[in-house]
Amino acid sequence: MSRFFPAALLVTVSACAAVAAAPGTVTLAGDRLVECIAGDLPVVITVPHGGRLSPEGYARRPKGVTDMDVNTQELARAFADELTRRTGGHAAMVISLLHRSRLDPNREIGEAAGGGAPAEAVWRAFHAAIESALAAAAARHGFAFLIDLHGHAHPIARLELGYGLGAPQLNVDDAGFDRSGVMEVSTLRDLHAARGGSAATLIRGARSFGALLAERGLRATPSAAEPGPGNGPFFSGGYIVRRHAAEPATTKVDGVQIECPRPGVRDTPENRGRFARAAADALLVFLHEQYAWRPAARP
Ligand SMILES: [Zn+2]
Repeated sequence: MSRFFPAALLVTVSACAAVAAAPGTVTLAGDRLVECIAGDLPVVITVPHGGRLSPEGYARRPKGVTDMDVNTQELARAFADELTRRTGGHAAMVISLLHRSRLDPNREIGEAAGGGAPAEAVWRAFHAAIESALAAAAARHGFAFLIDLHGHAHPIARLELGYGLGAPQLNVDDAGFDRSGVMEVSTLRDLHAARGGSAATLIRGARSFGALLAERGLRATPSAAEPGPGNGPFFSGGYIVRRHAAEPATTKVDGVQIECPRPGVRDTPENRGRFARAAADALLVFLHEQYAWRPAARP
């Protein structure tokens, strides 16, 4: 483990110490297979499919997708480092170190763990860590923003932003989208309820997160340029963002699932750095404009 973590910042406990720990502290929970990094920004980053470990005692899942999202751990760490460089603070992170063939934390527990008790325990630790990190961020800032990071292999190399809304809900004009009431089930439900106004403007207007990403060289849908995904494959947002950001009980939490193509984004350290800079910049603009949040002045 010392290969990966600076010893002074590494703590191993049964649950992640998201609330109490100093920002940047690394905690390993769930049989040391869930890495948690304590944060002080309103941002919580989760990485369910970037794990590479298949330790003894964790059986192969009998069904479901078992391919990992290559380099998403590295992409998330670059993104978080960039946020730290710009703000002086830390995003909280929850990373599954288990390979997806052993656990898929972005599914309900049955499909996630395939009935294996050890994997079920890791699943519980993963989601408890997310809840704890979101609660800590919301207590500190009045809101929390969850980013669940993934990789896709769809034909169009663009970011797919999953707000819990699928292609049939997005492939309509703005007036139809605003009338549809779908924000009620989306991961920006609380933000939209607080701000009011056009749902289409919030999701894909000129100052939407997707438009801010596109403006910085990261092609994305939904956005002003690509308001809906069209007819191709599209990930609308899975179990993690729906459970933690879209359920009615998750007040003060918004979020998005970001599905990243491999070419140009996940493939090389240079491209991961380019993504990190553009995405951090877009996110900080979005948080400022939508939540009136800005980083604390540095001493
Ligand atoms: Zn994934």
